[in-house]
Amino acid sequence: MSLLSNERRKVTASEAGGMPLTQTADDVMFHDIASSAFIGHCSNSACRSGWLHLFRKRTRPVFEGGWTCSPDCTEARVQFSVRRELEGWQQVQETHRHRIPLGLLMLERGWITSQQLRRAIEAQRGSGNLRIGEWLVEQGAIDEVQIARGLSLQWGCPVLSVSNSGMAGTSEVLPRLFVEAFGALPLKVPSGKIVYLGFEQSLDAALALSVKRMAGIRVESGIIPSSVYADAVDRLRNQAFPALQLAETASDLAAAHVLARSIERARPIASRLVRVHEWLWLRMLLQSPGGTLPISSRISDVVCRIGAF
Ligand SMILES: [Zn+2]
Repeated sequence: MSLLSNERRKVTASEAGGMPLTQTADDVMFHDIASSAFIGHCSNSACRSGWLHLFRKRTRPVFEGGWTCSPDCTEARVQFSVRRELEGWQQVQETHRHRIPLGLLMLERGWITSQQLRRAIEAQRGSGNLRIGEWLVEQGAIDEVQIARGLSLQWGCPVLSVSNSGMAGTSEVLPRLFVEAFGALPLKVPSGKIVYLGFEQSLDAALALSVKRMAGIRVESGIIPSSVYADAVDRLRNQAFPALQLAETASDLAAAHVLARSIERARPIASRLVRVHEWLWLRMLLQSPGGTLPISSRISDVVCRIGAF
């Protein structure tokens, strides 16, 4: 069974925990925000405060659709979520050894000749810096749009185009760190019902699944031709991103402690934890979506890596 279907199964199991999938009009944030209106029942199942918590003057934080009455209860819930996210870590490495090599695929389709392919392979052997597709472009055998088309056939995904409207608000989708580390370019469509993740060379199914779980909306991945990709990432870098706190901890308990402390400090109206490869990503919604507030006063991210991974 592939990673994707494994992970899908896991998500479904965790969603069965009672998080409603209501979509907010403003998309890209949490599908559980609507449930945060029901205050009065601490969401930590081991909460021992009984009716006492009714006298505690707090309506926030809300973590994964549930209000918590005290810092201890927040930490207990975060510990549970950290454990949930770390399970299945071993399965993460998805390999793609079975894909037809790009050069062969293009040869088969008659896009390049066997001489052109041989030249590119020899050049690649001589200097390992460039990929085969890059050598083919370098040697004038093919252009980058066709390389992107070849990659999209390899991955079974579309070639994405980048419009100006598609770049609006995309810095809300992922922390800047993930854009840089995983080479993913988020793109939105006006309806807000779907987010596209554009990649230059290869898709990242685990990242796409994490974004889907975080945003609660459909995520589709595709290939973007190199120069279009580079230009769009440059434009994205100029956008403001949510505030980001980075943490590195020695254990899952220590990670839960750091994350719970951030939640207690920020008192978000909604927050959620998902794993993205070796990172735990906590996203906190500080204000209702929309409006004219700067992004860093609406959304706050904490990204935490556990040293023992
Ligand atoms: Zn409690």
